[in-house]
Amino acid sequence: MNKLAKLGIENYQDLLFHLPMRYQDRTRITAIGALRPGDEVVIEADVVAADIVMGRRRSLLCRIQDGTGTLTLRFFHFSAAQKSGLNHSRIRCFGEVRPGPSGLEIVHPEYKVLKEGEQGALEQTLTPIYPATEGLTQPRMRSLVSQVLQALGSEPLDELLPHSELERFNYPPLTDAIRYIHQPPVGADQTALMEGMHPAQRRLAFEELLAHNLSLRTVRQNLQILGAPQLKPSGRLSRPFLDQLPFSLTDAQLRVAREVARDMSRPIPMLRLVQGDVGSGKTMIAVLSALQAVENGYQAAVMAPTEILAEQHFINFSGWLEPLGIKVSWLAGKVKGKARQAVLEEIASGEGQIVVGTHALFQDEVEFKELAMVVIDEQHRFGVDQRLTLREKGRKDGKLPHQLIMTATPIPRTLAMSAYADLDCSIIDELPPGRTPVQTVVLDDGRREQVIERVQQNCLGGLQAYWVCTLVEESEALQCQAAETTAIELQEALPDLRIGLVHGRLKPADKAEVMAKFKAHELDLLVATTVIEVGVDVPNASLMIIENPERLGLSQLHQLRGRVGRGSRESFCVLMYHAPLSQQGRERLSVMRDTSDGFKIAERDLELRGPGEVLGTRQTGVMSFRIADLQRDADLMDDVQECAQRFDSDSGTARLLCDRWINDADQYAQV
Ligand code: ADP
Ligand code: MG
Repeated sequence: MNKLAKLGIENYQDLLFHLPMRYQDRTRITAIGALRPGDEVVIEADVVAADIVMGRRRSLLCRIQDGTGTLTLRFFHFSAAQKSGLNHSRIRCFGEVRPGPSGLEIVHPEYKVLKEGEQGALEQTLTPIYPATEGLTQPRMRSLVSQVLQALGSEPLDELLPHSELERFNYPPLTDAIRYIHQPPVGADQTALMEGMHPAQRRLAFEELLAHNLSLRTVRQNLQILGAPQLKPSGRLSRPFLDQLPFSLTDAQLRVAREVARDMSRPIPMLRLVQGDVGSGKTMIAVLSALQAVENGYQAAVMAPTEILAEQHFINFSGWLEPLGIKVSWLAGKVKGKARQAVLEEIASGEGQIVVGTHALFQDEVEFKELAMVVIDEQHRFGVDQRLTLREKGRKDGKLPHQLIMTATPIPRTLAMSAYADLDCSIIDELPPGRTPVQTVVLDDGRREQVIERVQQNCLGGLQAYWVCTLVEESEALQCQAAETTAIELQEALPDLRIGLVHGRLKPADKAEVMAKFKAHELDLLVATTVIEVGVDVPNASLMIIENPERLGLSQLHQLRGRVGRGSRESFCVLMYHAPLSQQGRERLSVMRDTSDGFKIAERDLELRGPGEVLGTRQTGVMSFRIADLQRDADLMDDVQECAQRFDSDSGTARLLCDRWINDADQYAQV
């Protein structure tokens, strides 16, 4: 049973939910004349010749005939007895058909020599093939499942979907569905089963998605019971802030700002995700929501995942808000000693009305006087747990602060509906006017010299450029080393340019200094690892070279590329890959070339790589489904939402559903 535990199978129910990944059809005999390459078939035929052939490898070739055609069976491992046993016999064999040097063949088929007049038995159901583990053979898995299925007869699993729902969606009862999937009867729709689209399979995926949805709803209801400070927008601070901006907000920004303002003026905690492509102006939403808290005499916290990004927010917020008489405080890991003590006091006394910082804001020593609004920028970098820690800091008299989570990593709708069913979503689906899309070129790194030439022209023309080094190794040290080497090489090739280097191993102060120099145009070219991914704003940078882009996710590439194209002039991104590219690699890079729409890119990324990768490892725990597959079952999401609304998420059935489908580790209710 240890081997089963490795598969996460601890009880009968787990075993029944461990579904076959595909099937073999051993229920019927296929005529040789009807074979196509790739078929897995049972054949019954006469062996007309069995010869040993000395090719590159010594092999035994049997020619078999069944009256409709001829087929070759090829064996690389065989004995003399096997050869003579096969010759001129009648056999039943099973295997995968593939094209060979002289027509179709099967390599190492399973076979049985039939006695005179013998009829070999055929299987009564399709044969399931399970995702297995070491030491557990398929026959063993099949026999275990078979035993449990028999026991189901006397002890059926509880049917947790109401009859009315089964009817509405035309789903079979649970026990029937399970039986059907493990032992599909002769004549079952094999194509649907293979694709996971049979109603019996869909029903299970549906039930699992429903359980997750109900669980998230419960979390949310528990939150709402707690209540939050009611913050009505007065416009006392937000109006003068907007008046002093050199631009007016886009329609999309205005709409999202209204949604946020409405949430905050209600006495229940806001939990809203703002998605907006790189450069769509999410910061404005953060400022407005913070101001709404301050207008009501409360504090707001704004947190960003990196020091560079947090500091940029701090500089911007101070620039906009200090003239309005608002105190903006700054807290990051590098604020030490007396300065830190002073900031902590500012925060505790309430003098710091808006506090901008990194995850340093989570620390125990940080105490707010009256925190009512928490903004978390680029949420995909933080785990759910961190987000909740900051929320707890604002818990006061049983009330929770409002929360706004902002992300530029577009989360496809299906993913958002499952991973973030506990959040409301707003989308800034419009860029400020006057942006020109970045032109993307995909090049082989054999043309590196030409690319260097291009960097030279760009920079001598008064513009700036990024050179991004990526490395497949997880080790940050190696990444930084690669960036260092590249910087030295480029400096040799481009002696006239002022070249800077940032990577994750620099001290934060040194990193900030290089960034500041680049921003001030004291550097022409910035060689960097992917640390520059989020948020950094240098409008004069109009060219980005990304080495080995095939190693990064599409959304990450899109983020990186968003660092250019911030001014009004034409910008370029060169994706310099290392040949040869896989088919998928080629497809992915051409997606980058062909579209600049972050949502489309994320959808394609999800299709090509699956949800775990798109959301980043931190979140995959939230997303682990046993049966459902967010791509395949995307079209179930609307039905699931609808059905969840008809359910009382507090009911006993809802609890049983969650117990059945959600691991303790994933219990959202506990976070
Ligand atoms: P992101 O959504 O990537 O966080 P930012 O908030 O950093 O985007 O905004 C990107 C740039 O666009 C900033 O320089 C910002 O000042 C500018 N910006 C924001 N909103 C507008 C607008 N409505 N019109 C013009 N420029 C804007
Ligand atoms: Mg931003």
